[in-house]
Amino acid sequence: MDSMEEKIKQLQVIYDDFEAAAAPYKAEAACAKGCAFCCTDAGSIHITTLEGRVIQNCIQRLPRNRQVAVKKALAADMKRRERNQPSACPLLMKNRACMIYDHRPFACRRIYSLKTCTKNQHPILSKQVMDLGDAAIKALQELDDNGYSGHLSYILHMLETPAFLETYIAGEYLPEAIMQFGKSHGIVINQMAIKMDS
Ligand code: SF4
Repeated sequence: MDSMEEKIKQLQVIYDDFEAAAAPYKAEAACAKGCAFCCTDAGSIHITTLEGRVIQNCIQRLPRNRQVAVKKALAADMKRRERNQPSACPLLMKNRACMIYDHRPFACRRIYSLKTCTKNQHPILSKQVMDLGDAAIKALQELDDNGYSGHLSYILHMLETPAFLETYIAGEYLPEAIMQFGKSHGIVINQMAIKMDS
């Protein structure tokens, strides 16, 4: 089993390979600085537990008062989504910049749009980049083979649960321990997703 540090290095390789392959298509993007449509209106932000661990480490490096504010925003996002209410990403700052930009998950890296987004015009990606993104997600799930995938605040909530974190960091895999939360929050077991794809 690879160590967590080694897996995090491999995670960056998957991101970098995707960026390199998608760059020619993204050159046509209509995206501009200050547009945060993907962070406010584009639905769930699906991440793997490994990506969640990277984000959790980023949050833990913030000053104490920022950490408290982020944790409140994550809990509020969870509540809104549990009630099927719209909710912007809790990591989007007031100036519409991403708090963890250098460590943002793949769900945010893969999205761009060939047309400017509006309430009625969601992001439009080229088929080639969609396919590259799907392949990268498969690679991310294979890399995080004792982990899970789901919306950002749900995965961070799981990682904040000491018993879950301990099992996960040890490289162990106990899906029955998250069965109830997983079923009610659309959490995917990466090993099952890999099997279904193969
Ligand atoms: S993590 Fe950052 S880039 Fe991704 S949706 Fe949230 S604010 Fe936007």
